[in-house]
Amino acid sequence: MRLILLGPPGAGKGTQAARISAEFMIPSISTGDMFREAIKKQTLLGKQVEQYISRGELVPDELVLGIVAERLAQPDTANGFLLDGFPRTVPQAEAFDRYLAEKGQSLNAVIELAVDPEILVTRLSGRRVCQNCGAVYHIVTKKEKQTGVCDLCQGQLIQREDDYEATVRNRLAVYTRQTLPLIRYYQEAGLLFRVDGTQPISVVYQEIMTGIRERVGQ
Ligand code: ADP
Ligand code: AMP
Repeated sequence: MRLILLGPPGAGKGTQAARISAEFMIPSISTGDMFREAIKKQTLLGKQVEQYISRGELVPDELVLGIVAERLAQPDTANGFLLDGFPRTVPQAEAFDRYLAEKGQSLNAVIELAVDPEILVTRLSGRRVCQNCGAVYHIVTKKEKQTGVCDLCQGQLIQREDDYEATVRNRLAVYTRQTLPLIRYYQEAGLLFRVDGTQPISVVYQEIMTGIRERVGQ
């Protein structure tokens, strides 16, 4: 199963990715998570991408394509993968199509999570993430049991630096300018289906699963 989750920052991609990947037993691959990890470790890549991420700009395509190719070469992707946050530009999508064609592979579906910009600002400014395992929470809609502590691993919950409001607005503008064209790109490829991401998390999940199953005939 090879899937892409598409949608603006805050649409719920990471939240849904965790569930979908568990259901199909495929790794969920988030380029954003990989970059944050590289920044934390202060690797060469981390130093190269840090400024773009803190400004809410996209990382240059060649850096993104490099880490995705490296990640997809890992054996755990043999039965498929779910991409969260990649591709984000038309050149990334085109390069990814070439990569799949070379391997004789194809995508099963692209899921678009649709959410209004004003809701996204509220979601992102209230988002908290576990510093240790990356689990996603929200100060109003998905509270942790013990304040500031991850329910899953007891790690510390933090606010991402790029979730402060000024950066959020820039990220949403960047999405409209650079990533939105991918909706048409995958629509034309006959791969895209849309889910209303403003519904409760469990309803969004059920609709995603129904959409995937319709496409793969399971
Ligand atoms: P993305 O990965 O697309 O940036 P996240 O999955 O991190 O988005 O979700 C952003 C914020 O919105 C998080 O705080 C999350 O808990 C919350 N959230 C996700 N899905 C929903 C939903 N369906 N309804 C309300 N809040 C949600
Ligand atoms: P995310 O965790 O998906 O919200 O991504 C956080 C940040 O990482 C984005 O704002 C970008 O700066 C960078 N990033 C993640 N994925 C990509 C990508 N596919 N292309 C370019 N930049 C990316």
